[in-house]
Amino acid sequence: MNKDRHIIHMDQDAFFVSVEVKKNSKLIGKPVIIGGSSDRGVVASCSYEARKFGIHSAMPARTAKMLCPEAIFLKGNMDEYSKASHEITEIITQRVPLFEKASIDEHYIDMSGMDRFFGCMKFASELRQTIIKEMGLPISFGLSVNKTVAKVGTNECKPNGELEIPFHEVRSFLNPLTVNKIPGIGNATYRKLSEMGVRKIQTLADIPQELMFKILGDHGLSLWQKANGIDLSPVVPYRERKSIGTQTTFESDSMDISKMKAILTGMVTNLTFDLRSQQKLTACITVTIRYSNFETVTQQARIPYTALDSFLILKAHDLFKKLYSKRMLLRLIGVKLSHLVSGFEQIGLYHTSEEEYDLYQAMDKVRQHYGVESVVKACIVAPPSKDEKNRIIKYNPRKKTEEERKKSRIRTFINSDISSVNKSTDS
Ligand SMILES: [Mg+2]
Repeated sequence: MNKDRHIIHMDQDAFFVSVEVKKNSKLIGKPVIIGGSSDRGVVASCSYEARKFGIHSAMPARTAKMLCPEAIFLKGNMDEYSKASHEITEIITQRVPLFEKASIDEHYIDMSGMDRFFGCMKFASELRQTIIKEMGLPISFGLSVNKTVAKVGTNECKPNGELEIPFHEVRSFLNPLTVNKIPGIGNATYRKLSEMGVRKIQTLADIPQELMFKILGDHGLSLWQKANGIDLSPVVPYRERKSIGTQTTFESDSMDISKMKAILTGMVTNLTFDLRSQQKLTACITVTIRYSNFETVTQQARIPYTALDSFLILKAHDLFKKLYSKRMLLRLIGVKLSHLVSGFEQIGLYHTSEEEYDLYQAMDKVRQHYGVESVVKACIVAPPSKDEKNRIIKYNPRKKTEEERKKSRIRTFINSDISSVNKSTDS
């Protein structure tokens, strides 16, 4: 533990619900659930009143309805939540030099070195009050020596709370808490630790480090460190915006618009699958094209946070249409998704029917098992070949030669490391 670090974790309280309550005061004090309807879909967010009934994010809406029949179900509006999210980030940008946007409603602020000029607690408290005043939305924060302890602090003082955990109190703060309070502990790990008789953080912290490594590998080591209040991960500056992108250079330059659109569709499909696998959402899409004379042009669009293909494909086609102004051959096309933040349950909320959401989940499962190109949209596959009598020759992907497979492979580059994923719940 480094006692010279001062990290603030700020998190909106029941963010989506709070945005709805701000619009409609009749919802104050009611059990409100965002996402799905009363009998289908999953809970994306719920009010603290609903949580008293045992309802939580990612729970099937049907179960939530059983637990609390009088709950009010709202479809949710990702456009509005994204707008509020950007406004909060803007308030922080104006006051803080070094911060990280961790999810749609969470920020980490690094105050290290500035604590001599400002009292960190006073600064954080004033920033919180500013956000409450300007946004009309409740927010909580934790202040401690690293990201993990600060986040646990926020979760402990929610809603409408603030909590400082100074260096010398870190262990005594963490010790009595249950191990599932450590960020990043999934259900499987929690079960495994329970089977080992490990329920309290103190028990986990006292296990020899080597033993934790032996049982759970690197993940075990990381958990052991967190249980001991150790977390060296840096606050990643917002200006180093994370992105994922992909680009394709054609074998021979082309002017075939429908082929370009099919390629764009394929690239966006692959990228969004990556996003969902990493439990990330994007708020910005960029399309790049390069003409045969090497002139390169780029168009970018800000979008509400999403990880779904359908909307992003339309956006990509739209940007391509705006970009491709010269009747010239193209040699390269590229797509980038940026302004990434952690988010997962929220993907079901955005401009999508429940059938579409179910379809995505099913397709992602197939892709996780059999590879990203095992399921593709029909428009990406070349039109069926016909024989001399104009009969369709059945498409059989297994007949693809190695050469053809190589050609169809899309080069993917990752600008920054998005492997460290904190599963975000809207709390
Ligand atoms: Mg939150």
